Amino acid sequence: MKYITVFLISLVLFSCNNYEQKKGSEAEYVLVIHGGAGTILKKNLSTETEKKYLDKLSEALLAGEKILKDGGSSIDAITASIMIMENSPLFNAGKGSVFNEEGIVEMDASIMSGKTGNAGAVAGVHTVVNPILAARAVMEQSNHVMLCGNGADKFAKEVGLDIADSSYFFTDRRWKSYLKTRNKSSEKHGTVGAVALDKYGNIAAGTSTGGMTYKMKGRIGDSPVIGAGTFADNETCAISATGHGEFFIRNVVAHDISALMKYKGISLKDASEKVILEKLKNIGGEGGIIGVDSQGNYTMTFNTAGMYRGVITSDGVKEVLIFGNQQLSSIDH
Ligand code: ASP
Repeated sequence: MKYITVFLISLVLFSCNNYEQKKGSEAEYVLVIHGGAGTILKKNLSTETEKKYLDKLSEALLAGEKILKDGGSSIDAITASIMIMENSPLFNAGKGSVFNEEGIVEMDASIMSGKTGNAGAVAGVHTVVNPILAARAVMEQSNHVMLCGNGADKFAKEVGLDIADSSYFFTDRRWKSYLKTRNKSSEKHGTVGAVALDKYGNIAAGTSTGGMTYKMKGRIGDSPVIGAGTFADNETCAISATGHGEFFIRNVVAHDISALMKYKGISLKDASEKVILEKLKNIGGEGGIIGVDSQGNYTMTFNTAGMYRGVITSDGVKEVLIFGNQQLSSIDH
């Protein structure tokens, strides 16, 4: 009986799907990315598709790492990584974004600097090729934090960002998923995000998404909401979230993790587990987060079957992963 109890407890702990790697202060830089969390099962992914995801995650990590290695900022590194995922039809962000109930793409993105506390976000944009650049432009070139809809698209055009028509964002796969979801209430999602620590001890977070398949026109998720889908503060952590946005907004997930660290003095790992594996899980809020603190500790914590994710650090950690309870797989440089 005793052994059965121990076995059951281990099973419960193991099935929490939480991965925590501590690097400590010796890591000069750290970059963690995600490409969405959800019901991602090995049996539903062909070897070829799995490889495509792993390769693209590696490419995104290596692009961000190059910037950090050369002494660039965490903001530049996360922007580069997120753009690569936005430009890939594999992920639900930028090209490859899901369709809303009217068959239109409406994308959300945000970015925040842990050094300055500045942030920028766009919501419901449909012409910006890289919504993360639009979020960054709001942060750096406007007096505001969030712009939405046509105003945000107009602003992106005015500051010279690449603009495209709806055919650029169209992918067969997302259209099929739209048709399938129509008349059904199943919610399909996905998102991309990145957090980083640079050589100067500054952390940053960014998130970009097409939202949920068949969402209502005008629906805005957690990804552009500072404190829900994205948050960064050098004193605590940088967080990018993915999952069922309504739960992440209502529970102010990214800021909640930061606040636990700040006011309770607990670690990034403990704070993330508390929020994702206990609080959210208990109310049915599916999803996960990636996080980094200014000491170089990082986490990839999720309560779903899988999360596309990867990490790269100055002291030699290079991994990309998809499923839960998975051995880390190395990236070839
Ligand atoms: N959080 C995103 C949203 O609700 C979707 C996702 O991350 O899967 O819009």
